[in-house]
Amino acid sequence: MILCKRENTRIIHVKDRLIGGGNPILIQSMTNTKTENIEATINQILALEEAGCEVVRVTIPSAEAARSIEKIISHIHIPLVADIHFDYKLALLAIENGINKLRINPGNIGSRAGVEQVVEKAKQYKVPIRIGVNSGSIEKSILKEYGGVNALAMLESAKRHIDILEALEFYDIVISLKASHVPLAIDAYTTFAYHYNYPIHVGITEAGTLYKGTIKSSVGIGAILSQGIGDTIRVSLADDPIKEIECAKYILQSLELRKFGVEIIACPTCGRTEVNLIELAKRIEESTKDIKTNLKIAVMGCIVNGPGEAREADIGIAGGKNEGLIFKKGQIIKKVKEEELFDALMKEIRDMQ
Ligand code: SF4
Repeated sequence: MILCKRENTRIIHVKDRLIGGGNPILIQSMTNTKTENIEATINQILALEEAGCEVVRVTIPSAEAARSIEKIISHIHIPLVADIHFDYKLALLAIENGINKLRINPGNIGSRAGVEQVVEKAKQYKVPIRIGVNSGSIEKSILKEYGGVNALAMLESAKRHIDILEALEFYDIVISLKASHVPLAIDAYTTFAYHYNYPIHVGITEAGTLYKGTIKSSVGIGAILSQGIGDTIRVSLADDPIKEIECAKYILQSLELRKFGVEIIACPTCGRTEVNLIELAKRIEESTKDIKTNLKIAVMGCIVNGPGEAREADIGIAGGKNEGLIFKKGQIIKKVKEEELFDALMKEIRDMQ
């Protein structure tokens, strides 16, 4: 058996984006407004776009929400995904109103005839379908057969949904196998990648609040991505969805899968630290977060080790007693007074853009 790496997954088109086949891993999020509240939903999506969101999902619990899609889509720029449960008629309505992708599970949106109608319409409008397997909602018959919730049970659940679509000759499929239990999610995603080459959406569901949810998502999503698995990602936080985007970007940047402007390297401080490094690092991070140029900036606490330890940084500072050094790629270019360190560094950074 061969693990299907992201370079070898099928490519699907979602609006003007390509998912799979080694294309850049896209960052997704989901609105938490009422979709029927069109203005609030548009505003949140525009804010998510500004933060770097590349695909956004909205819940479609009603016909009114499905009909809102047309207006929402006319005001946004990124692909819109409709999240639909148990009602194939809402899926039909979402497609007719211009949705770019559906998130449905064909096994639970209604009768066979209803599924056939959705697939027929999805083909006609070129709308891909994400099947979202979730460890918390695996079919009872599968749980019985596989002895509870585990990776093979999740794979079987995915297979049943995929079989329905494949029997109708529909292959524009993306799969997710989310769990809030990190080892289970890693196991499920890697097991799936041994069996299928459909593009994969990676997430750790219900990861938690900002701090711990960020860590949990980073560990889980990072472990899966590092095996070459994953074509889109979503960080699920009990917080403002904008925070999900920041976390997702940094996961991709940390694995050097994508670049998003400035990366700050900061030493952890020690007994040699000669400046208020923690405050200085925070100030530099805040002042450079809008810079789009890919730059590694080092903020180091001492002259003895700083420039050498951070030699891979494009530019950096090393604090000393009452003065500091500015260096580029480990080479010292300037010595400045401590109180001028921040301004001198920012000037150099601006000159590099
Ligand atoms: Fe300590 Fe200097 Fe290393 Fe920072 S760079 S941890 S101050 S030795």
